[in-house]
Amino acid sequence: MTNHGSQGFRKVAHPSPMPDPERIELIRNPGFGRAFSDHMVTITWTADRGWHEMTIGPRGPLSLSPAAAVLHYAQEIFEGLKAYRTSSGEITLFRPDMNARRFALSAERLAMPALPDNLFIESVEALTSIDRAWIPDGEGSLYLRPFMIATEPFLGVRPAAEYLYVVIASAVGPYFSGGKSTITVWVSEDYTRAAKGGTGAAKCGGNYAASLTAQAVASAEGCDQVLFLDSAEHRWIEELGGMNIFLVFEDGSLQTPPIGGTILPGITRDSLIRLAREEGRVVREEPYAFDQLKADVASGRLREAFACGTAAVISPIGKLKTTDGPIVIGDGNAGEVSLALKRKLVGIQRGDVPDSFGWLH
Ligand code: PMP
Repeated sequence: MTNHGSQGFRKVAHPSPMPDPERIELIRNPGFGRAFSDHMVTITWTADRGWHEMTIGPRGPLSLSPAAAVLHYAQEIFEGLKAYRTSSGEITLFRPDMNARRFALSAERLAMPALPDNLFIESVEALTSIDRAWIPDGEGSLYLRPFMIATEPFLGVRPAAEYLYVVIASAVGPYFSGGKSTITVWVSEDYTRAAKGGTGAAKCGGNYAASLTAQAVASAEGCDQVLFLDSAEHRWIEELGGMNIFLVFEDGSLQTPPIGGTILPGITRDSLIRLAREEGRVVREEPYAFDQLKADVASGRLREAFACGTAAVISPIGKLKTTDGPIVIGDGNAGEVSLALKRKLVGIQRGDVPDSFGWLH
């Protein structure tokens, strides 16, 4: 039986949700990615039955064979999206259809079965609804983490024949601790993130595993994130370890590297391109060389840079660091255009700015 979502989730009893006072204390200052909610969703896929056994129950350890393919060959994909409590108390998801689409594309790239978009959306809705007490008030949100792993116990190298889809959730505050106003970014000249024909456009765990050495170097250099250059020429700006990048110029135009298989097509990126164009700004999706960035900083043409993503929202970049020394962007503070776009995006997500694109779910 292939279940495409019409039958809903089988509820598994929850013996011990976290008591109110403990939860309230935890989500008052949740940090990022530590304060996990009470429940999780699971759906199983097997070659003979397709998607089946949809459950929602207590969050807890998974039981896996030590031969499960994911543990050996990293056949894994994930997504990240947030549930918000709007100022009027409604609970919304931001463009979950886009996450569903990207999850399906990631699945295709990793030779995994596609989860129908409606099942993806139902699963995040169901978890958000049952764990809505975990959505912090104010600036926080509930970060939803859908993921899929290859569970078949088999050591041959081929696409697995069994998978598990899971959704967990975590109350979150700002991604960068202390909610800093600007971030510092290390420009990696040794390590690259993705090559043409590789998995850069998919949201698979392996991409992040491969970025950790560069991230560790960045941390050791006192930086918050890594900026990766392209793998072929080490010349073109691509993206950060977990965020897309935008540049803002003195004429008010914006530029961001094009989607071409090596960077993740960010949903925040797409939303900001639309918002900025709606404001009448020119937005170029064109390659931008790191040497050009240095020249544009020196001439004053480049005024602002920011990182963007679901977790990071918009994080203005105050400074880049390279082995040749620091490069200060603008006056090193958060730029006006970056902050105005952030206010607008967050305003839409919180229901304070009209949702003219119909993004709230
Ligand atoms: N690039 C990478 C490598 C990421 O991990 C993310 C976070 N998902 C992004 C960009 C931003 O994507 P989104 O705006 O959809 O969160």
